[in-house]
Amino acid sequence: MRKRTVYPILPWLTLLLGLPAMLTAQPLFDVHLHYNAREAEHLSTEAIIAILDQHRVKRAVVIGQPAELANKLYRQAPDRIVPFLGVYRDLRDKMAWPLDETLPARVATALEQGHWRGIGELHIFAHHRNRPVFHQLLKLAAQHELVVMIHGDAAVIDTIYQVSPDLKVIWAHAGAYPYPSLLNDYLTRYPSLYIDLSMRDARIAPGGQLQEDWYDLIMKHPERILLGMDTFSLTRWQGYGELVAITRQWLAQLPEDIASKLALSNAQGLFDHQGN
Ligand SMILES: [Zn+2]
Repeated sequence: MRKRTVYPILPWLTLLLGLPAMLTAQPLFDVHLHYNAREAEHLSTEAIIAILDQHRVKRAVVIGQPAELANKLYRQAPDRIVPFLGVYRDLRDKMAWPLDETLPARVATALEQGHWRGIGELHIFAHHRNRPVFHQLLKLAAQHELVVMIHGDAAVIDTIYQVSPDLKVIWAHAGAYPYPSLLNDYLTRYPSLYIDLSMRDARIAPGGQLQEDWYDLIMKHPERILLGMDTFSLTRWQGYGELVAITRQWLAQLPEDIASKLALSNAQGLFDHQGN
């Protein structure tokens, strides 16, 4: 009698029942979500959590505009949501905040009143890097042991580490000029700097193929690289599954242990040290 072949049952069941492969996909920590008032009109906090569930996003950094929206989402899922204090009241603030001398006091008050694990995303470029308002926010972040998310250029990163040498910083989108050789210099120079790769899939893996220079960068700094989907619009929330799939596709081209650092454990390590 021929020996009966035993097939592992779960993949077959998944196939038969048409369950999404996502159910068995690697859990993610998305460090770059926005939840803004105009999106909240269409997507309740429950709907956001359902999207994260559907795509196996175990934890997520959320930035609200107004800031309170991130805390609202945090209250809905406190083990999952890591709320960052967004400092923009409207679109004008996005460019003008470094000139707003009332901002540090407002941020100090907000930090006393809400549950915050970081400040940002702060959009700031070289010409504003020595504005006192910016330096005061950096000092507040250091006092409260918060992570700061920066959308800006390399000169801003140098200034941050002059002002606050140990600050934990997420450099969003791998910086304004995301060249692996430049990123390698910065990650080497500043041990508490992290980069998130949101919005950079087309450079990292054009046509889905992970590029060699990015592969080398990731292998050189496997502990300092994070993932994010940057849901700055309703369209990006609605296409969240596709964004995750694009990222997972190049992530799968890395050694498994490195992929799981980027997907989850690097960000866990970054936030769990805060102990709150
Ligand atoms: Zn963003």
